Amino acid sequence: MAKKQRKKNAPTKVWKFYEAGSELKRSGRFCPKCGAGVFMAKHRDRVTCGRCGYTEFLKSTS
Ligand SMILES: [Zn+2]
Repeated sequence: MAKKQRKKNAPTKVWKFYEAGSELKRSGRFCPKCGAGVFMAKHRDRVTCGRCGYTEFLKSTS
């Protein structure tokens, strides 16, 4: 009669939080100004920080 006291390891909720933010996704890019933890919103040709407004243009090869 082993009771399951613990549920299966829940995925890191911290990621969920970020994903539910808005358009923020785990693009792997952090804002250089705000530091790690602040994701950059990925656009077609640039990434922007929704917190400080920092914008970084991406190099498009095509
Ligand atoms: Zn920022």
